[in-house]
Parts: sequence; structure tokens; C-alpha cells
Amino acid sequence: MKWDEFSDWGKKISEWAQDYHLTVGDKPVRAQTEPGEVFNALPAHPPEQAQAIEDIFRDFEDIVMPGITHWQHPRFFAYFNSNASAPSVLAEFLASAIAPQCMLWQTSPAATEMETRMMDWLRQALDLPEEFAGVIQDSASSATLAAVLTMREKVLNWQGNRQGLFGQKPLRVYCSAEVHTSVDRAIWVAGIGQDNLVRVPIKGDWRGMDPAVLDRAIQADLDSGFQPAGVIMCVGGTGTGATDPIDECLKVAQKYGLYTHVDAAWAGSAMICPEYRHYWPGVDQADSIVFNPHKWLGVQFDCCAHFLKSPDDLVQTLAISPEFLKTHGKDGVINYSEWSVPLGRRFRALKLWFVIRAYGLEGLRERLRNHVNWSVDLHDKLAVEPDFQITTQPMWSLWTFRYAPEGHPDLDALNLRLVNAINDDGRIYLTQTRVDGDMTIRFQAGQFETTEDDVRMAYDVITEIARSLT
Ligand code: PLP
Repeated sequence: MKWDEFSDWGKKISEWAQDYHLTVGDKPVRAQTEPGEVFNALPAHPPEQAQAIEDIFRDFEDIVMPGITHWQHPRFFAYFNSNASAPSVLAEFLASAIAPQCMLWQTSPAATEMETRMMDWLRQALDLPEEFAGVIQDSASSATLAAVLTMREKVLNWQGNRQGLFGQKPLRVYCSAEVHTSVDRAIWVAGIGQDNLVRVPIKGDWRGMDPAVLDRAIQADLDSGFQPAGVIMCVGGTGTGATDPIDECLKVAQKYGLYTHVDAAWAGSAMICPEYRHYWPGVDQADSIVFNPHKWLGVQFDCCAHFLKSPDDLVQTLAISPEFLKTHGKDGVINYSEWSVPLGRRFRALKLWFVIRAYGLEGLRERLRNHVNWSVDLHDKLAVEPDFQITTQPMWSLWTFRYAPEGHPDLDALNLRLVNAINDDGRIYLTQTRVDGDMTIRFQAGQFETTEDDVRMAYDVITEIARSLT
């Protein structure tokens, strides 16, 4: 394909994309294919000769699309949403057309400087103090890894990268059992080891870490010759929206001089609304905070906002500067590749710029508030059904429930059957989680095109299918 044919196809594809988004609500949400169907439909060997874009596009529609789960569907109530709002898709199209690799200031000054400005817009939107500086990471997992590496280096007096962990006292990191598995992975990759990730028990409706137990656990580790390195807190955990008492946990961490990281991958977006900020009191005392605008802020995947009180600590941990990456003759420029594990970086700030301008913070707030309110309404409706139990209360727009008809001998199996039957039906999409060992079903609303009627429909689907099983 030549560039002078591009605009014809660009127009076709943008029309296709518009139509897709306008009609996606008519499709089953979860792909209804069986394992292996798409793989077997793809030729076993690559073509030797060029093929026409017409043919490739036809196969895209015939082979690929039936195997797609529609994350942009207005009744996608599973996992956490990964919104691709229209302005962010346009920005991504432009970024992919220019395709700059933004590892250094000089490899695209506009990308670096827009990133600095956009992260400061987000900082203001979340009402974080000016001392926080931000970087866009590819994922919350990467941000958490960067934070764990920083806590490791700080506690080892910046010698870990050089000397490794051999001969050191075992490092310890503290979190609750409700944090995302990206924390476990970061601990593995940082060489700290799963056994040194200390799970502090939770308490209360928010299912947050018990600060008094955290304090005792750190002291006991010090007494036993371990080396505490940091505390990782969650605000809006994946399973149930678990949220640690941030101010109290930060106080304990500070007492022992430990580095702190707050994972608010999903719920961080909601902090653009002042009325939700009571969920992270005192967060301005944290060293590192992560949230994903690619989840609930409408910014096409991927785009992860990572705030740091002292970026110098992160840069001291991750920066590596061979001659070929040096920028001579320009003082004071930021090279964001020194703030992240991967060297290469996409132009992600552009889609933040498009989205924040196209909706305005007030437009974004309105969407999030609607999601929370509609979800709470649904919760209230299901809560009064005698054969349903609410297993965790709404945290923003996320809560969990269980179908529990009286006398049923195996509620775990029944609820697993229910979630599968709902997803086979296709009108809505839900996922399950365990709450204190019991199989339960999650509900969360967060898709940008979801309406109140979409959320209401979930009530009909859930109750109708549940009762058809017993
Ligand atoms: N933290 C929480 C609370 C999450 O829910 C998720 C993903 O859903 C992650 C971290 C990982 O996010 P990412 O896919 O950006 O690495």
C-alpha cells in the first residue's frame, strides 16, 4: 500500500469506527467464540506476496471481529472499563500517523513538554499539591514496579542496582491482601521475593489495611533482622474496591521512614470529583501515586498517570545514560525515559490533551458521577430482593453480590453458573471475585456511553437469568 492511497482507507476506517461505536450496543458484549476458532481461521503460513488491503480488511471483519469482546459496549460491567472516547481515538490516530518515539526531549520536544503540562493538569484536577511531578507510564503495573524498585534502592542506599541483593538483610514490603497482582509481580521482578511481601489483615467496610497491625508487623520485622523497605496501599482495589486508610497507613510508614506507593489505578480518576476525595485522606503525604486515565477517564488504552513527590528518587533508580542517549547543549530538559523501565515511549500525552479539552473537567466529572449514582441505584434495587445478598457495599460504582436462594446447597457453584449464563446471554458482561472465600459477582459501571437504562437493564438480566437456574 502506498501513502497516496492512505486517505481513502483512512476515511473508510473512520466511517467504520463511527458506525462500530454507534451500534456496538446491539452486539453480545463478550465474544461468543470458542477457543481456537480465530487461530484456526488464520492461515498457518505468512503470505509470500503482497495482498490487497481490501482482502485484509474483509478478513478483519470476518475473522477478527467475531472474536472481539466489546470493551466499548455500554453494558460492559466487568473488570474495570478501558474507555476509548472519540477524542482520544482521534488523538491516537494522529499519534500513530506521526509515530514519534518520545524517549528523550530532543526526540520530540512537543511530546515531552506536553507530557509535563498534561501531568500538571491532572495533578490540579486531583487537587494534589504542586510538589508532585508526573510521568505517563504504559501501565499501572509498570508504575508500581518503578515504585518498588525505588523503595528497594532507597533502603539499600542506592547500591542495589550495582551490587544486587546478595548479602543484604531480606527486604520487606507491606500491603493488604486486596492489592492487585501487579504488586506481587513487581516484588518478584525487583528480586525481593513473594515471601517478603507481608500481607496485613484488613478491617471495616472499606476492607482496608489495619494500621495498628501494619505498625506491629514492621516492628516485628525490625526485631527479627529484616529490612522494611516500603508500604503499598490501594484505593479502589480490583476485586471489591478495597481502600486502605491512607492517612493512618502513611503515618505508620513515615514513623519507620519507609517509601510509600498508592495504587489507585481505577478509582484515581474519580478523584477529579471533590466529593470522593475523602476516600484518600492525606494522600499528599505519599511518595508515589498511580492511576490509569485509560480506565475511567476516557483516554484510549494505554495511558497511566504516575505522580511522584520526589522524581529524583525515581530517576536515581532508573536513569542510565550512555553517550548515544545524551542531550548535549540543552540544560534542564526532561528525558522521560529516565523515569520509566522501558526506554521507548509513545506519544500518550496527546490523547490526554484531546480528552481533557474535548470534555472539560466538568464533562468528565458528570460521567463519573452518573456511573456511581446509577450503580448505587441498581445496588439498592437488588439489595431488597430476598434471594440476593449484597456481599460488599458500593465503593464508587463497584459492589458485589451473590444469588442466594434459601436452602441452596452450593452457592459458589450456583454463582459461577450464573455469571457464565449471563455472559453467554450477551446483553451484559460481568465477572466474579471471591469475598472472604465466597464466590461472588462484581458489578461496576464506568463505560463512557453507558446510560441509566443500560444499568437498569442489568437488573432485569441478573434477576431473570438467576431465577431461571433454580
Ligand atoms: N491496580 C489495580 C487496582 C487494577 O485494577 C489494575 C488493573 O485492572 C492494575 C493495578 C493493573 O493495571 P495495568 O493493566 O495498567 O497494569
